[in-house]
Amino acid sequence: MTTYTPMIQQYLSIKAEVPDAFLFFRLGDFYEMFFEDATRCATELEITLTSRDGGGGERIPMCGVPHHSSGAYVQRLIEKGYKVAICEQVEDPATAKGVVRREVVRIVTPGTVIEDQMLAEKENNFLIVLAGDQKQWSLVATDLSTGECYATEFADDQQRWLDEAASYRPREVIVDPKLADQQEFLTQMKQRLSSLITVLEATTYLTEEKVEQALEQQFPHESIDNLPDAIKRGCGVLLHYLGQTQKRSLTHLRRLHRYYTEEHMVLDEAARRNLELTQTLRTGKRKGSLLDLLDHTGTSMGSRMLKKWLDKPLIDANEISARLDAVEALIAERLLLEEVREVLKKVYDLERLSSRLAYGSINARELLSLRRSLEQVPQIKALLLRVNSGLLAQLEAELDPCTEVSSLIAEAIEEEAPISVKDGGIIRVGFDDELDRLRDIQADGKGWLARFEQQERELTGIKSLKVRYNKVFGYFIEVTKSNLHLVPQERYQRKQTLSNAERYITPELKEREQLILDAQDRSTELEYERFVQVREQIAHHIAKLQQVAERIAQLDVLHSFAVIASRHHYVRPTLSIDGQFYIKEGRHPVVEAAVGGEVFVPNDLMMDDHNQLLLITGPNMAGKSTYMRQVALIAIMGQIGCFVPATSAQLPVLDRIFTRIGAADDLAGGQSTFMVEMAETCGALRQATPRSLILLDEVGRGTSTFDGMALAHAIVEYIHDRVGAKTLFSTHYHELTHLEQELAGVVNVHVRCVEKEGQVVFLHQVAPGRSDRSYGIQVAELAGLPEQVIQRAQVILDQLENDNEKESAASLQLDLFQLQENTVELTSVSEKCPVEASVLEELTSWNVMTEAPLATVQFLHELQQRLVKKE
Ligand code: ADP
Repeated sequence: MTTYTPMIQQYLSIKAEVPDAFLFFRLGDFYEMFFEDATRCATELEITLTSRDGGGGERIPMCGVPHHSSGAYVQRLIEKGYKVAICEQVEDPATAKGVVRREVVRIVTPGTVIEDQMLAEKENNFLIVLAGDQKQWSLVATDLSTGECYATEFADDQQRWLDEAASYRPREVIVDPKLADQQEFLTQMKQRLSSLITVLEATTYLTEEKVEQALEQQFPHESIDNLPDAIKRGCGVLLHYLGQTQKRSLTHLRRLHRYYTEEHMVLDEAARRNLELTQTLRTGKRKGSLLDLLDHTGTSMGSRMLKKWLDKPLIDANEISARLDAVEALIAERLLLEEVREVLKKVYDLERLSSRLAYGSINARELLSLRRSLEQVPQIKALLLRVNSGLLAQLEAELDPCTEVSSLIAEAIEEEAPISVKDGGIIRVGFDDELDRLRDIQADGKGWLARFEQQERELTGIKSLKVRYNKVFGYFIEVTKSNLHLVPQERYQRKQTLSNAERYITPELKEREQLILDAQDRSTELEYERFVQVREQIAHHIAKLQQVAERIAQLDVLHSFAVIASRHHYVRPTLSIDGQFYIKEGRHPVVEAAVGGEVFVPNDLMMDDHNQLLLITGPNMAGKSTYMRQVALIAIMGQIGCFVPATSAQLPVLDRIFTRIGAADDLAGGQSTFMVEMAETCGALRQATPRSLILLDEVGRGTSTFDGMALAHAIVEYIHDRVGAKTLFSTHYHELTHLEQELAGVVNVHVRCVEKEGQVVFLHQVAPGRSDRSYGIQVAELAGLPEQVIQRAQVILDQLENDNEKESAASLQLDLFQLQENTVELTSVSEKCPVEASVLEELTSWNVMTEAPLATVQFLHELQQRLVKKE
């Protein structure tokens, strides 16, 4: 057996406690890593790998980072999705017997960081928990850097859980040990959320009784009894994990916000992605998203709040109206809006400051930032009193300036305090008597030194004699070479020789030095003690500070809405009760901002319970998907309380928005384009209600023409007859436009374009009726396809169109649209094209709604094969 040195043995036993984290093992001024941690860490951090003798015979791989600059290394590992366990010496090495005792004091993980440099200012940093049993699941989300905690539950529905989870963009997911066997779900979670996933080991901590105790302790003001079991368990898992990693009480995590997903407009992941709410499809970046456009907030708290509002649009008409009222009132007071903006700019990130307060990691400068922020509150309150809005009046009433906190900081903390909290210069004169006394000694010391210097000059007659100080020798007398003959050798003791001077000390000088330095050391120590006391005293007010933060963030978002509305001429929407969805001269907010208001062509929308499904035709590039997206964005903007890009808008309150837009391939997730298309469509058909909005962009395009057309047709019928949701359906299948005559709620519109000298010109105008042609070849020409291809395509098209008039293809298509549910008229087709007819018959009787998507794809593939092989 290998016999390691006691220190390595200590290392190994601590490492066993944190197998999934890099162990930063404190050795003097360094954090060292050993064994496999060292080899991996050396590669990840690009630092030198060395080795040392650890008593085991072979040399042990080792690498290390300096303690004072460890933050940057921890940050790099966290960014790569690792965890880092910080292990410190917990006794004084000078007095320790044997190996110094060491303990892990905190495990830093991607979802639990609170350090500024590891966080994006404008984004939350969520850690979420999946917990529950096979029937009821919960999602608990927390951001330790802001002290927020949310919880909701789901009946066994993986999709809904994943959709909700995705809205948090979690950095880390913790899974209940009870769900460890849900392999398929965990794999899907990994693909969709791309976060660090930790399945907790089964633990005795999670008994019902212990969980309740932990909850009561952490959330003393919440009524725990009413929480469903799944949520309790989720919180239990969370608190257990936080206990294991943070190893301290989290006094800033006191509020548990329970919510129901139905309380907000539901937006699944596809809808958020396709509508580019918080990031763009192409770059995955915030820039170019709706969030980016709407964000004119003055604080990062406001910025994060805006994202939360966008993630969860309201469905309560009163709440929506209250926000709209506030925005309207702010717009009406233009000058005041400017003043609000100026004040907000002076408010620091109170949420994150509060969290650092709880962690005891806040420094004196940050306390000053806290004070300056709080000092803005009275002015904010005064401004709010000048605005006529219920919501703003409520914010005003709830805003507490926390004067006890700001006065304490003002009394205690020096205006120019340094960042370091251990080197003094922090506590104000007059705050502490003992500190003032020690400071007097130091100040007096300085006067004494000046007098001493003067006295020695006179006694020796050396005019250039100086009393100086350095860290090695302390205070000394310096005499230049030319004056050495005047030095009183009996009194002066030589300490150092320089090229042009000699340095001396005297007993009198050393005695005084001791006095000054002792006072200095003691006062630095005392300052730190007093600072910690002040910090702890302020920490008692964390809950209040968090409330101030939340109110200011809300005001900030409303102010941002007012700014954007004035800047881009948005209007206040009205909410309709009977499902009217009317938009006059609506614009796509992001495209408009990109191309300019003069270039963007506004369009109307007229939908209500009688015009429920718009079939939109028009060539590629005409603006169909822009139009569809703009309708959804206007609805969302309205429901978060923002004015909308239109000249007038009457909006229904939507419960969900579904989208099937663009070719969102999920090849990495193992799904083909067509499969994704069908899955997203399926989500809409299954879950939409008459209060939902569905956007379907060229559904059916991912497969062959007949399959696609048949599916599109059946889908339109289904939505019309059974779902009743408001739907915008863009399509290339001009044949579908016949449905307008057959289905009462279907209306054709088209996006206009004209042909000028053989070139297609897009007007981007949505007009009633259907489009006549696809202009595919013209668009291809615009895209720069070789001339030969364009000409040849034109010839083939002409030929096809000729044939079409005479031949079976036409009759096939026409017949397709005469197919009624379950009454298939195939006689004429079957005579001419027996294979096609039998394929059609099978296709018609296939129930797309009930069959699994994969089975549908396989079935379609078989049909295709038969059509190709003609058998
Ligand atoms: P389609 O879905 O019909 O293929 P898109 O909606 O993708 O077309 O629009 C194609 C391009 O036309 C977009 O890049 C957009 O910039 C521009 N566009 C669309 N709608 C408008 C509009 N109403 N006014 C100005 N430009 C528009």
